[in-house]
Amino acid sequence: MAPVMDSVASFISREHQLFIGGEFVPSKGTSRLDVYNPADDTVLTTVAAAGAEDIDAAVAAARAALPEWRALPAARRAELLWNLGTRITELADEFAQIDTLNNGKTTADAMAVDIPLVTGLLKYYAGWATKLEGRTITPMGGSNFHVYTRREPIGVVGAIIPWNFPLLMCGYKLGPALATGNTIVLKPAEQTPLSALRLAEIIREVGFPDGVINIVTGDGPGAGAPLAAHHGVDKITFTGETTTGQKIIDAAKGNMKKMSLELGGKSPSLVFADADLDAAVEGTFGAVYFNQGQCCIAGARVFVHDDIYDEFTQRLVDRVSQIRLGPGLDPDSTMGPLVSREQQTRVRGFIDSGVEQGATIVSDAQSPVPEQGYFVRPTVFTGATADMRIMREEIFGPVAVVGKFSDEEQAIAAANDTAFGLCSGVWTRDSARVHRVAAGIEAGTVYVNTYGMFDPAVPYGGFKMSGFGKELGEESLDSYLQTKTVWVNLD
Ligand code: ADP
Repeated sequence: MAPVMDSVASFISREHQLFIGGEFVPSKGTSRLDVYNPADDTVLTTVAAAGAEDIDAAVAAARAALPEWRALPAARRAELLWNLGTRITELADEFAQIDTLNNGKTTADAMAVDIPLVTGLLKYYAGWATKLEGRTITPMGGSNFHVYTRREPIGVVGAIIPWNFPLLMCGYKLGPALATGNTIVLKPAEQTPLSALRLAEIIREVGFPDGVINIVTGDGPGAGAPLAAHHGVDKITFTGETTTGQKIIDAAKGNMKKMSLELGGKSPSLVFADADLDAAVEGTFGAVYFNQGQCCIAGARVFVHDDIYDEFTQRLVDRVSQIRLGPGLDPDSTMGPLVSREQQTRVRGFIDSGVEQGATIVSDAQSPVPEQGYFVRPTVFTGATADMRIMREEIFGPVAVVGKFSDEEQAIAAANDTAFGLCSGVWTRDSARVHRVAAGIEAGTVYVNTYGMFDPAVPYGGFKMSGFGKELGEESLDSYLQTKTVWVNLD
């Protein structure tokens, strides 16, 4: 097991406060939240549980910082974002370890995925800060007007993020919000507040003006709900469960906040008979089990052509049997624990429901699971019908459900038989089929002969009940800007 770095131990042992107006300040209330290490069920530390008054203070600080931040040369905003990315790279080991200790993910995954993506996207959006342009338009009814558009920041952004990629999700919100000249109040998930608090320390070091970024720890009802409802917040960006997204829509309507919502998924992978089987097994395996299955994009429903169904399923089961469960700090572990006791109970409940409703577990149901910590045995189901809970609801755990199809039309229908529409995977060597299926699937992303690719320059976001408003890429900028039209009479 890798030892905990001194710098990480020292950070965790600090008294954790709220980051408001460029200072660490105590909460106005006295409530604290326990923060757990999911690998051994111990309490790592406590953080402040912010309430409505703290949210008021954070929103006021973000509002006060807005004129200076908007007036700052775009090149300086770019430089600050770039420097934040650089500083995270310098502290990569530390951040990876903090997310491992607090979220459970393996350090190897944090280093391979979370860290490069967060630094890459901060630098990508640094580039955009200097490239935001309006247009001049010649009105169709006559040319005696000079008409142009300005792309302006929306104002104060409230960001509410989940626990599955704690540091990375901070970057998803900070990058585009700050590049476009907004200020922000960010609330990390109550389960995983630590990397956001460490980030607050380096935000100060890097030199962001006070109040541009405020980080407020707390739970959903106590801190998230007042942030979503606050009339001083102009836009809310949320990543999390669909049911929480629906509450946020309700809360946000009071002052017509602009919104972008990245919600749940139940993504399909379609494996056709002509697929490269090695690649398809490895790709669908990663699609389901990466990050302990705690990904909105998890390709949890796998549909396989009849002709290769038996062989594919056996190979997937063999691959799952190679998983080594253990603490994320142990380099021999290939899968860590789930994030919380609650999540462990929830996922086990889904597995039980699958069995009760008549599906069959075809993976080794006896393989050992560490007793301490929130581990769940990775599981493969077959024989599930379309109406079962394990087919319809987002499990957010290491559980695959493998089904069959006999032709392309059936495959597309199965893929689309869900309320969600986040991602999808297609495994085939037939290039014409690729384009037919990509057009037919109702999802924001179609991965062909790959799965789970992310890049700061490539937009991502759901259809149907998976939400609206793209993240990443140039598209994300649109949801943090508002277009103002100026008509000038030239007479
Ligand atoms: P999970 O149930 O998996 O934790 P959630 O969607 O509930 O997923 O949590 C994602 C984020 O939403 C967290 O930061 C959480 O605190 C926040 N949250 C939960 N409930 C609410 C709510 N009613 N209003 C605003 N934010 C909330």
